[in-house]
Amino acid sequence: MKLKALLLFGAPGSGKGTQGKILGTIPHFFHFACGDAFRNLRIDSDLGQTFIDFSSKGQLVPDEPTIRLWRENIKAHQQVGRFNPDQDTLILDGIPRNPNQARILSDTLDVRAVFNLSCADNNKLIKRLQRRALRDNRLDDANLEIIKDRLETYERDTKPVLDYYGKDLVHTIDSTQTPINVLRDILRIIAKL
Ligand code: ADP
Repeated sequence: MKLKALLLFGAPGSGKGTQGKILGTIPHFFHFACGDAFRNLRIDSDLGQTFIDFSSKGQLVPDEPTIRLWRENIKAHQQVGRFNPDQDTLILDGIPRNPNQARILSDTLDVRAVFNLSCADNNKLIKRLQRRALRDNRLDDANLEIIKDRLETYERDTKPVLDYYGKDLVHTIDSTQTPINVLRDILRIIAKL
């Protein structure tokens, strides 16, 4: 059986995490943020070290360990009863993050919709990330050069995922709206699925 999934998609700073956390509080939705799974690793573990090496340069972690981490986490949540695939829909934030990850996950995921939180103005994203750096103590948000590398990685590696899923599944939402209005737009679409 494939896992029902909704994907939160967008550049760093577009608000995927904010929306994902809210949606994850609704019964029968389970939020998984791939970046959080990486940040929860011990930094003295092999994958924890790999994560620091790549994320500190604004690059993606290689696909094979990323998918393995995802599968292990989902399985663990399932085993302790936090995620029940018969009833729950996954809200995925930050994965799949390139077309190859989307292909690898195609035998596991039944993607019902992709929410593309779009922002044409990179300066707005940069300002949001710099505010977040202070609030959440995130090293990859603190440095302007790393932020620019992440935005480039997004354009080059991640954006093609939208073409992979195609226009029937992708819903583009203006992420410069207030969080409540972004949420309203997402919920309107979910309500019709
Ligand atoms: P952002 O706010 O930049 O979207 P995330 O918390 O989602 O941040 O991710 C932080 C970092 O974790 C990324 O820059 C990348 O190095 C790594 N990462 C997260 N998810 C993935 C993924 N699916 N594939 C590869 N690397 C990932």
